[in-house]
Amino acid sequence: MTAFSQVGATIAGRVFQIRQTLPPSVRLIAVSKQVSIAAMREAYAAGIRDFGESRVQEAEEKRLQLRDLPDITWHLIGHLQSNKVQRALEVFHWIHSVDSLKLAERLNRYAAGYEQRPRICLQVKLLPDPNKQGWSVGDLLTDLSQLDQLEHLEICGLMTILPLGLSEAEKLEAFLQTRNLADSICQKDWQRIQVKELSMGMSNDYTIAVQAGATMVRLGRILFGDRP
Ligand SMILES: *Cc1c(COP(=O)(O)O)cnc(C)c1O
Repeated sequence: MTAFSQVGATIAGRVFQIRQTLPPSVRLIAVSKQVSIAAMREAYAAGIRDFGESRVQEAEEKRLQLRDLPDITWHLIGHLQSNKVQRALEVFHWIHSVDSLKLAERLNRYAAGYEQRPRICLQVKLLPDPNKQGWSVGDLLTDLSQLDQLEHLEICGLMTILPLGLSEAEKLEAFLQTRNLADSICQKDWQRIQVKELSMGMSNDYTIAVQAGATMVRLGRILFGDRP
C-alpha cells in the first residue's frame, strides 16, 4: 500500500475529497489508463465526465464498452504515433500531448474531414527531460507562427509533465514558468492560437499545479489506486 491507495475508501469518496480541494473552474480529468471499466463507471457515477487515456487502442475499446454514457469527454494524454492520428481523432475530443510541429500538421490534415475541430494542447518541457516528449520553450516560440496556420485544429493551451525528483519549490517554479509562457504567448496577436488552458498536475503535484494556475489536472493513482 502506498499513500495514494489510502486516501478515501472508495473511488466516489476520493472523487468527492479531491473535488473539494479544487477550485470549481479546474477540470478534473480522471486518468483511467489500465483502470477497469467497473472502476470507470464508479467514477462516472461520482460525477466524473472527463477521462484521460494514454493509448489509442485502449481508449477505443473503453469507449465502445461505455457507449451507454455518451456525455464523457475523452482526453488523449500520452504520446501519439503518427500512424494512429486518424484513429485518435475518432476517439478523443481533446489531445493534450501534441509534441511536435510535424504531428500538429498531420493532425490538421486529417482533422479537415471532421465537423468538430479537435481541441489540442501543445506539450512543453520547461526543464530538459530525456524521458519526455515535447517542445523546449525556444523551439515552441519558433514554431508558433506555423502552428497558427493550422486551420482545422483548435489550439487551446499548454500541457506539461515535470521531470521526477524535483523539490516542491522547483515544481512550483516550473509550473509558474509554464503559466508565464502561456501568458506571453497570449499577448501576441494570433489568428487562431489560444492558450487559455493549462493542463498540468498529476497525483503527486496537482496541488502545486493548481496554485500556479492549472485549469486541467490529470489524476490517476490518487483516484483509482496504484496501477499494476
Ligand atoms: C499517467 C499519467 C497521468 C496520471 O498520473 P498519476 O500519477 O497516476 O496521477 C497524468 N498525465 C500523464 C501524461 C500520464 O501519463
